[in-house]
Amino acid sequence: MNITTDKAITINYTLKDDEGKLIDESKDSSFIYLHGHSNIIPGLEAALDNKTKGDKFELVLEPKDAYGEYNAAITQTISRSAFGEEKIEVGMQFHAEGDDGNPVLITISEINGDDVTIDGNPPLAGVTLNYSVEVIDVRDATKEELSHGHIHAQGESCGHNH
Ligand code: ZN
Repeated sequence: MNITTDKAITINYTLKDDEGKLIDESKDSSFIYLHGHSNIIPGLEAALDNKTKGDKFELVLEPKDAYGEYNAAITQTISRSAFGEEKIEVGMQFHAEGDDGNPVLITISEINGDDVTIDGNPPLAGVTLNYSVEVIDVRDATKEELSHGHIHAQGESCGHNH
C-alpha cells in the first residue's frame, strides 16, 4: 500500500540540524499521522507521498522549505517590568496575539538586566532540517479519523468532540 491522502502513516525519523545536533526523533515507532491533511511539515509530507512500508530515505529541507528564514525584525526588546512578578528565564515560551489575530509563539531569547529580548520566530526558523525517515506502516484511516482530520492512536478517542 502506497502513501496517499487519507492513509494513516507510521514513521520512524530523526531530525538533525546542519551540525548534526539532534532536534527531534520519533520514539518507539510511535509517530503516526494522517497523510494529506497538513498535520506534518509540508516538505516532509511531500517527500513521503507514494512511499511504501519499509522505504527509507534522507531528506534535507532548507529553511525556506521548512520554518522560514530567521527574521531579525520580529525580535524586540521590552522591559522586564512587562512580565510583572513572573519569574522569567531564557528559553521560556508563551503565546501572544500576532498581527493577523492568530496566536504566535514567542520565545525569550535574552535577558540583560531590565532588557528582555523576545523573539517571534519559530524555534526552527533559519535551521536546515536533515531528516532520516523510515516508513513503518501504512494503513487506511478510519472514518472517525478522517472526519476529525487526525489519527486516533490505538483506537483511543482523541478527547475532544468535533
Ligand atoms: Zn479527533
